[in-house]
Amino acid sequence: MSLVVQKFGGTSVASTKHIQKVAEKIIQARQRGQNVVAVVSAMGDNTDRLDELAKEVNFNKVGAKREIDVLLSTGEQVTIAVLSMMLMKLGCPARSFTGGQAGIFTDKSHTRSRIREIKPDRLLESLELGEVPVVAGFQGIDCHGDITTFGRGGSDTTAVALAAVLEADECQIFTDVEGVYTTDPRVVDQARLMDRVTFEEMLELASLGSKVLHARAVEFASKYQVPLRVLSTFVQGEGTLITKEDKLNMEQPIISGIAFTKDEAKLTVLGVEDVPGIAWKILGPISDANIGIDMIVQNVAADNTTDFTFTVIRDDYHEAMDLLNQVAMDIGARQVNGDDKIAKLSIVGVGMRSHAGVASKMFQVLADRSINIQMISTSEIKVSVVIAEEYIELAARALHSVFNLEEKSIKS
Ligand code: ADP
Ligand code: ASP
Ligand code: MG
Repeated sequence: MSLVVQKFGGTSVASTKHIQKVAEKIIQARQRGQNVVAVVSAMGDNTDRLDELAKEVNFNKVGAKREIDVLLSTGEQVTIAVLSMMLMKLGCPARSFTGGQAGIFTDKSHTRSRIREIKPDRLLESLELGEVPVVAGFQGIDCHGDITTFGRGGSDTTAVALAAVLEADECQIFTDVEGVYTTDPRVVDQARLMDRVTFEEMLELASLGSKVLHARAVEFASKYQVPLRVLSTFVQGEGTLITKEDKLNMEQPIISGIAFTKDEAKLTVLGVEDVPGIAWKILGPISDANIGIDMIVQNVAADNTTDFTFTVIRDDYHEAMDLLNQVAMDIGARQVNGDDKIAKLSIVGVGMRSHAGVASKMFQVLADRSINIQMISTSEIKVSVVIAEEYIELAARALHSVFNLEEKSIKS
């Protein structure tokens, strides 16, 4: 008998009515002869509400993150119980499992933990008994048995990791859109549903802000060769298959998708002496505080001083600013500036490898609309820019149209 892991996101389980629909979907899969392991998110925007509770208390010192994980993980715990009861009511044996009960072991980094090992014995027993194991997404336990979470959107990662360890035939991510689009369909009306996208492109899109899939879920799927599909809970369809690159595809578009995120902030140290070790002195304390750094730019001025700019996640902005002010004093910098109203916009495509001029075309589109580029970073298959947050939708729409993403393939 085949096995599928089906993951249902927040909107798909927003109410008991929605949960009934989800239960019926699971039962239909079983009637088609498939075993199902279900993974669920918190109902609706419950995680946001739990997060706000933590922010109201506003305690950021040692120990806070452990408690945030205890708090945030309760959202998923509600859903597993309600869905299991709903399945049983509809005549389908089911059993709920928290991350720890499902055997998901992680490292100790609260709020951004990584899966270390999965011991799926209890899930296998449950399947053996003919039940649907219903697993809480986005959570595990560390070596002390303390609850950990994987970062926002992390239920996708639970689903893919379980699919890998259980050697499922497919991991199906059910969500509130019909699959992966060329860009966020809620922002760009012309966004086109893709029937396939490569792991490599999906990983870039997810890492650069397309929240339809958690980046680590794509990483896992690629590493363990898990067939991964994104599809709608509400509309019938094949959705999008995330797959290996098709070397024979002659019509490979240059750009496959556009990702953007407003979850960014920029910090600049001005007038730093241009000597070896400066980057380390500036960024060391930021990294030591476990704050992730994204883009970095260093300019050399004529007077042998340098301006050093980098971006962080917006939530980390104030902490990073406090640290940077301290560092600036220590190294005798002239000034520290910051801006937390920036956004990052990226174009992604494996077709870029064989085409020159993609970045300059992107820059021209932005220039034509008088949008100032503050930072740039590129890799083999992506170009990212930082611009003012207020222009992000305008820029995404313009690029989508100029790169002809609504059409099947592009020639340029
Ligand atoms: P879930 O709660 O099911 O996990 P998410 O809100 O995390 O759902 O992800 C789905 C959302 O991702 C969509 O509603 C859409 O607005 C957004 N999104 C961003 N980029 C894309 C994209 N390229 N394709 C599809 N959806 C996207
Ligand atoms: N409930 C968590 C969140 O909202 C995890 C998830 O839905 O993937 O981020
Ligand atoms: Mg999600």
